[in-house]
This record gives sequence, structure tokens and C-alpha cells, in this order.
Amino acid sequence: MSTENKGMLIVISGPAGSGKGTVVKELRAMLPNLGLSVSATTRSPRPGEEDGVHYYYMSRDDFEEALSHGEILEHTVYCGNYYGTLRSEVERVLSGGHDLILEIEADGAMQVKRIFPDTITIMLLPPDGQVLESRLRGRGTETDDIILARLRRAREEIAISEKYDYIVVNQNDGAAECAKDIAGILAAEHLRSARMKHITSHFFAEN
Ligand code: 5GP
Repeated sequence: MSTENKGMLIVISGPAGSGKGTVVKELRAMLPNLGLSVSATTRSPRPGEEDGVHYYYMSRDDFEEALSHGEILEHTVYCGNYYGTLRSEVERVLSGGHDLILEIEADGAMQVKRIFPDTITIMLLPPDGQVLESRLRGRGTETDDIILARLRRAREEIAISEKYDYIVVNQNDGAAECAKDIAGILAAEHLRSARMKHITSHFFAEN
């Protein structure tokens, strides 16, 4: 699958507590044509989450079967559960010419970048570790064990963030500001010379 003449593939990662979900919602309100890939997971739905909207909730057996059939583009095990991007989601949106966001963690982000080197990778970080921890504890939907596992994973994600193309910091109540920063990144990426060949290669009629 080539991304040439298709929409841009954008990965947004951020440790638990980075406010990623809210920022992506703001961003999609600003850019209504931006697609969002719905991932598959084996974790249970949180209150208020819906199958097919937040995730496709799958059993471990079904996930492993989809993996063995090559239906999953990238995947990881995060705090004991599988999470993965369905190849069909990516193909559907990109081939329609729209940009697509994958909201995935760092391990999956690096897999996607290897498969599609043009992928734009953006890491969203809280301003510091203390804010991260208090946001995570304040959510109130997870047990202490899960919170600790997510904090450990957050440390790993921060260490890997320098491999991303961009880092955006989410200050307190800064979701709208972050969404604007990301919209700016996407606007600039659309103007990269490599993505402007539809203008440069047919500029004069005789070309
Ligand atoms: P949560 O359980 O909080 O919804 O998600 C846990 C982590 O898994 C988050 O960092 C989220 O971005 C990541 N994640 C969600 N879907 C995928 C996916 O399809 N692939 C990968 N690699 N990570 C995912």
C-alpha cells in the first residue's frame, strides 16, 4: 500500500494523562475532514465507551486470529491488553484522500513509521511528571495497579519522545491551544515540496 496521492497519515501519541483524547476531539472539530482510526482492543470498555466508536472490543482469541490473517497493521501489548490498528480502517480513509489520525502509543507509532516513512509523528506531553500523575489519578476509573502500570509506561514513552517529529506540550486546560499547534503542523506538512508535486510537475502545460 502506498500513501502517494493519498491523505497524510498522522500518529498522535501521549502518555496516559496527556489529555490526548480531548486534544484530538478539539482538532477534529477544527478540521472536520480529518479521519480518526478506530482501533481494536482486548481491554474492557470504560463506562460511556461504545463498540465501534471508541474501539472495536475483541476477545483475545479474535484479536490473535485477526493478527494471524494480517488484518492488523501494527499492534502492541499495553498493560496486559492487545491494542492494534486495523489495516481496513487505514486503507478506507487514506484512499478517500483524507488525512487520518492514529491515536496510538509509541511502540505502534514506530511500527507505522517503519511501514510508511512519510507518517507524521506527534507526541503530546503534559508539562511535567507531577501533572501527569495527578491527571492520571484524578480520572478515578482505574485501580492502583493499573495506574502504576500506566505510570511506568509513561516513563518509557517520555524517553522515546525524541524519536517523534514533533512534541506538543499540553498545559493545564490547554487542549484548544494544542489542537491549534497540531493544525499548524498539518498545514505546514501539506506544503512540503515532496507533497506539492501535483503543482510543480504539471506547472506548464507542455510538461
Ligand atoms: P486506553 O486504554 O487508555 O484507551 O489506551 C491505552 C494506550 O493504548 C493509549 O496510549 C492509546 O493511545 C494506545 N492505543 C490505542 N489504540 C491503539 C492501537 O491501535 N495501537 C497501539 N499501538 N496503541 C493503541
